[in-house]
Parts: sequence; C-alpha cells; structure tokens
Amino acid sequence: VTVAAEPVFDVTTCAVCGSSEADEVFAHRGSAFTSDGRTIAEDVRKVRCRVCGAVRRGTPFAADDLTRHYGVDYQLARAAAEPMLFVGGQPRPRSLVILDWLKTVLTPHLERAPSAILEVGCGEGALLAGFGTLWPEARLDGLDLAIEGHRGRATIVRAPYTAAAGPYDLVCAFAVLEHVPSPRHFLETLGATLSAEGLLAVAIPRLEAGSRDLLFCDHLHHLDAGHLARLGRMAGLRVIDRSIGPGPLHDFGFYVFDRAASARRPLEDPVQESAPDVRDAMRVWQERWTAVDGFLDRHCPRPIVVWGLGEACGLLRTYTRLGSTPVALGLDDNVARYAGAGLPFPVCAPAPGLALPDEAAILLTFTPSPSATAWLVERGVSWFNPFSRSLLLEQARRKGNRC
Ligand SMILES: [Zn+2]
Repeated sequence: VTVAAEPVFDVTTCAVCGSSEADEVFAHRGSAFTSDGRTIAEDVRKVRCRVCGAVRRGTPFAADDLTRHYGVDYQLARAAAEPMLFVGGQPRPRSLVILDWLKTVLTPHLERAPSAILEVGCGEGALLAGFGTLWPEARLDGLDLAIEGHRGRATIVRAPYTAAAGPYDLVCAFAVLEHVPSPRHFLETLGATLSAEGLLAVAIPRLEAGSRDLLFCDHLHHLDAGHLARLGRMAGLRVIDRSIGPGPLHDFGFYVFDRAASARRPLEDPVQESAPDVRDAMRVWQERWTAVDGFLDRHCPRPIVVWGLGEACGLLRTYTRLGSTPVALGLDDNVARYAGAGLPFPVCAPAPGLALPDEAAILLTFTPSPSATAWLVERGVSWFNPFSRSLLLEQARRKGNRC
C-alpha cells in the first residue's frame, strides 16, 4: 500500500478558500474540551474566515499531536458502552440510529448492493457491522487510528485514511472530516478509492446549526453545506445528496459525494442558509457558563447533584467552575457508560426509589422530559437548567428582540 503523506494542519490559511483573513470567535485559557469527552490542560481558540465564513482551530495541531491524540489518548472508540439516543421517546444505540439514517439516504443512490465497503474512523466497528447486516455479501474494511481486529465480518486495520486502497463502492466517514488537517486532501484521497459509480458518504457537525462542537478543541474545521460542495469540487467530486440528522443528531449533516464523471445527477448548490452568527452562538455559551457559575455560588455549600453526565456536562466541567466544585452525586440513565469513567463523584440512575441528599441543589445538563420533571417535583427539590432552550431558539429570540 502506498501511503501518500497527509498534510500538516495549516493554522494560518482557510482550508476552503485559502484566505488568511480571520477573526477570533472563541478562546478559553487553561482548559479545553475534546470530542471524546475529556478535559485537557490546554488553551483553546477558534477563528472564522472573513471571506467564506468557515471556522477553524486557531492554534497549531502538529502531526505528532494528532498521532498521540487519536492513537493513544482518544477514549471514544474504546468507550465501555455506546451512548443511547432518544428517538421518538425510545432509547436506541447511537450506531443503530445512524445506520437507519444513512440507509435511508444512501439506498436510492445505489443501483446494486455494494460489494466492497470502507469505513474510515470506524472505532470498534459498530456502524461497519451494521452495514454488514444491510449488505450481507459486501466485504467490510475499517480504518481507525486506535483500533485493529475483527468485528463480525469486518476487518479493522489500525491506519490513517491515507492507507485506503480501493476500489470501494461505498466509503463512509462519520464525524471524521472535522478532525483531519486538510479536508480537501481527505476528500481527494478517499474519492480516488471509489469505483466508477462508488459513493463517498461524509457526516460532520453542521456549522449552520451553530453546533456545540465549536467548543471542541480537536475539531479543526467547522463547515456548512456550501463549504462542503466547494471542497468536493476541488477534489473532483460532486454532492448528490445531503440530509440533516434525525432527532438528537440534528446538529449533523450527511453529504453523499460521487465522482464528477459519474452518470448521476448532482444536487444544485445549496442556497446559502442564513447561518447563525458564530459570535452570537458564543455569547449564548458564555451566558450559560456565567449562569452556571452563579448557580454554584448561590447554592454553596449545599450538596450539588448533576443530572446528565454526557457531553453537556463535560463542557460545563471544562468551561465553568463546575470542574473545580465538589459534586455530591451524578445521575444518568446510562450508568454503564459513566461508572468507572473516572468521574470524581458517585454515579447512579434516577431510579423511582432514589433518595437525594438533604438540601440537594440539582444542575440539569439537558432539558427534562415530563417524566424527569415529575421525578424532580416528587422529591420537592429545586433545579436549574442552563440548556433550557436550544441555541438557535435563543438566537432567534435575540434577533427578534433587536428588531
Ligand atoms: Zn475561507
């Protein structure tokens, strides 16, 4: 296998339009949140291209840093239990929700079942194994920087995307492109492994949604549909479909590319959505963090109970004083995911019979369902939810107030 060198992340230049003009949109000193849910002792900075609006990491990320971050430190691929997503009120493993979504989008574009499939950044291979159930005859190859071995019929090789050697009828990269130093090189390299009518399926957080991944230090690129179409053209690819994620995956966009020489019809270029101003989004986050610090001040020294230990909790532990405040108890429906995760407090499920510490003050990291609200009301406790509205709703309200 010939491995073409992966470019180093270019902190000075926009990966989409090549401009070096940019404004800082987010900066935090001393602690940074990573996409696998850790808090690390680093400064974080994001900048927005003045010409095309693409947002990128504003500090260097050397090749050695990348290898250590994903090959050694990264936790997501090895997590004890998969996150559960609530879709239509029912919990489902994240990989099955993703599989249903991708299947629905991809199927109309496939004239026959793919005979060879590659997933880049496949982790333990849950999604890849899911492809195996949809297309039982297909060869299943996975690449991951931290994992190797077998999952069902899938073979996972520990290697970067540059090791991909086709031809493949389907190449999938879910939440990978935002991590790579050069999105253009990524698309070019994977595009070159496609069979004549092969598809490249790429999902990334949507800049249009003002996704919270703007706060992740290891997401190097934040792109919208227009940026993806443009990067695709530079790589000899066309966007033939795009889709917004279901339910809790609403912040993700899914883009299907094929080779420019294919007989399919491409999508028209996206009408530029009025993407939320990233600076507005950052102001909302800053207000949330100030509100959480205020909550902790008001309730000190009462026992603090945090309900919801996922990503939102990690963000608060990184960017507010929650990280340095003793927590009496953590509550989460998915205890298996957090027991043994190294959290400095006990963790349990919000079971019907659970008694909370006397005088407990509850910090929610999600908007409670009616049943979660009823659980709190039954216990006669007060709670605080800094995520009471979605980012976009809050922005819409602000814009409305300004008019
Ligand atoms: Zn640009």
